[in-house]
Amino acid sequence: MSLEKAESKTVQEMTLQELASFCTRLGFFYPSGRIYGGLSGFYDYGPLGAELRREILNDWWWYFVERRDDIWGIHGSIITHPRTWVASGHVDSFIDFIVTCKKCGAEYRADHLLEDSGISVPELTLETLSKLIKDHGVRCPKCKGELGDPTPFNLMFTTYVGPKKTVASLAYLRPETAQLIFTNFRNIIMTMGVKLPFGIAQYGKAFRNEISPRGFLFRLREFEQMEIEYFVNPKKLDECPFYNEIKGMEINLLSAEMQEKRIKEGVWITIEDAVDKGLIGCKWHAYWIAESLRWLKNIGIDYKRLRVREHIKTELAHYAVQTFDVEFLFPQAGWKEIEGISNRSDYDLRKHQEYSGAEMHIYDDGEKVIPYVIEPSFGLERVILAVLFSSLNEIKGRRVLSLHPKIAPIKVGVFPLVSKPGFVEKAKEVYEMLKEEFKTIYEAKDSIGRRYARADERGVPICVTIDGQTLNDNTVTIRFRDTREQIRVPIEDLKEKIRAIFREWSTYGA
Ligand code: AMP
Repeated sequence: MSLEKAESKTVQEMTLQELASFCTRLGFFYPSGRIYGGLSGFYDYGPLGAELRREILNDWWWYFVERRDDIWGIHGSIITHPRTWVASGHVDSFIDFIVTCKKCGAEYRADHLLEDSGISVPELTLETLSKLIKDHGVRCPKCKGELGDPTPFNLMFTTYVGPKKTVASLAYLRPETAQLIFTNFRNIIMTMGVKLPFGIAQYGKAFRNEISPRGFLFRLREFEQMEIEYFVNPKKLDECPFYNEIKGMEINLLSAEMQEKRIKEGVWITIEDAVDKGLIGCKWHAYWIAESLRWLKNIGIDYKRLRVREHIKTELAHYAVQTFDVEFLFPQAGWKEIEGISNRSDYDLRKHQEYSGAEMHIYDDGEKVIPYVIEPSFGLERVILAVLFSSLNEIKGRRVLSLHPKIAPIKVGVFPLVSKPGFVEKAKEVYEMLKEEFKTIYEAKDSIGRRYARADERGVPICVTIDGQTLNDNTVTIRFRDTREQIRVPIEDLKEKIRAIFREWSTYGA
């Protein structure tokens, strides 16, 4: 489909691929290595994307680290001691199953191939995948050739540390940020004087050699995670001092039991009811589900399009007591995971204790404890997709990206109404003043209507226009992106007025 045609569709109908065209045209994301034909599973952030990324990461850090006194942030290395990944189980079992066409050699991720053929996959084991492919006579989608047996494929990217390429110098690019938190657990205890319960957070790149990257930013080979490991005494999983603040919050929940009964839609239920009915195993887990949802809502994700789905028994990782995915309702693709929130028990700390010999306990109430951990794990790019789909609007027949000002890549546009002497100088003066504080753009080309339309698509929340009246009384107009309403403000009050507008836009605590 041509770009024009794709973009003439209504926002609700937009697919991930059409969103990709929109994002590339506006300078949010470009396929990496585009001049050489692109590299599947890799995207570069363009100027608007880079700002959006920075704002979302900053807000996440502020919300989960800076404003709290029970969470410390770290920034771990991408390549770390390879034993880390042996202890965590990634070397042995961080695998997907690959099937290869015997005729044309095309390779597929076995479960995706089955799902694309309308066959649901109850569990990701070699036996089940082989049987389903055989029973349903699945063939190569490209050439209809016969498929070979599924084989396990480890998703970790490997590299070598130092000049020699030997088994001894083999290392891995981290497939998740979480393990760096566990390997730093003792450092944090020793240097920061923490007491249970407490958390360690970090964001950063993760690498997975996905067999079939797809869905624009949805399944990448290089992406960014924002993760927290929150450590709790296993005897105190219900002693959450913040529980009263969140227990009344309503969430859309699809429990494992409902899925086993083939129920497809979640139910809206308060956190308190979900805990009392035993659907969420403990109050600390419930708290982190609520906090995650609050943050996602606060950065502008449509709350009605978020649901919390519990992992069913066959998909639950062997180390997990209970896991929930926060899913976003994507157009056409349906409900898809953007965050996982898992109770990982004491599995990781015990494994690192076993493999390294380092003690992984902390004292609580005078007793040695290896804590349990609740892990909210967000994927930045999937959060960005949810933000973009939640913000794309059509207002009076025109496309508008209604981003919250705190994450909008450009905060203010400054435009002279016409490109005439007097107007231009004044507009530049206002631009110079505003850009000291806000990410501001100045544009004089094209009609004012076109400049507003361009700013709306790029998600600029407000535009300041210098018109004839400005030259008489030193006032300007502020035009609001989402309502197109305009107000008049003296230039001397402009900065303070913009600060107030952005402050009031905020939904924190709502
Ligand atoms: P996981 O460790 O698989 O539970 O992943 C945690 C989060 O990372 C997920 O909820 C996703 O948001 C994100 N994520 C995982 N794999 C990918 C991928 N290949 N591309 C983009 N994001 C991913």
